[in-house]
Amino acid sequence: MNKKTVIANFKMNKTNAEVKEYIKVFKKLVKGKDANIGICVPFTDLALAAKMLKKTGILVGAQNMNENDKGAYTGEVSSAMLKDIGVYATLIGHSERRSYYNETNATVNKKVAKALAEGIRPIVCIGENLDERNNGKTNAVLKKQLTEGFKDIEADDFKDVIIAYEPVWAIGTGVVPTNKQIVDAMASIRKTLTGIYNAEIAEATIIQYGGSVNEKNAAEIASLKGVDGALVGGAGLDPNKFNAIIDGFLAAK
Ligand code: PEP
Repeated sequence: MNKKTVIANFKMNKTNAEVKEYIKVFKKLVKGKDANIGICVPFTDLALAAKMLKKTGILVGAQNMNENDKGAYTGEVSSAMLKDIGVYATLIGHSERRSYYNETNATVNKKVAKALAEGIRPIVCIGENLDERNNGKTNAVLKKQLTEGFKDIEADDFKDVIIAYEPVWAIGTGVVPTNKQIVDAMASIRKTLTGIYNAEIAEATIIQYGGSVNEKNAAEIASLKGVDGALVGGAGLDPNKFNAIIDGFLAAK
């Protein structure tokens, strides 16, 4: 299985016209590249992106999904609505969702369970904040996020999960952890996954690094032990930069 997985998170950026322009350029740039490539776009762009990227192998993901089937949840979008427009992946528990919209490990757990039950691939974001990092709590925070976030998720379902390790202090700041900090976090995540599931599953899980990845640092980050890919925010908004990041990952290992 090809584990190299590079996904852009557009956050609250790009209108339909802008996404259309992006995809036109990007599709040509990445054609035939041997990596799992994807873009997570705003809800309003999903139908267009899914249509334009049909049969290209490029994954289209949402940035959030509600854990309920349907009903009185104003402003929310369900798994059925995503599938209806050809979207089969979603970010879950991005740090901005956790900090601005009070998402907890418990809500992440419900969303993961719902996504997996509905055949939607969850890209689950975890990571420590600066305080937790400075107080030596990184491993404990990651363990709690994983243990609670994947509570009661069976091994057979878990194999579809992608994990994005995103230290909150590295997101959108231009600050990247040291190589050792990234490698240690990856090892810590796999150790916890070994405890929850087993070593084979821990090894097979795709774990991305996210936080200020750009076209200059991608190749070095890609070469680090345990890093299977990247979740890219800011630099993913430019198709040329995002393509260069993908190339950085393809050049490694
Ligand atoms: C993100 O939001 O997931 C992210 C990694 O952002 P940036 O690349 O801009 O730090």
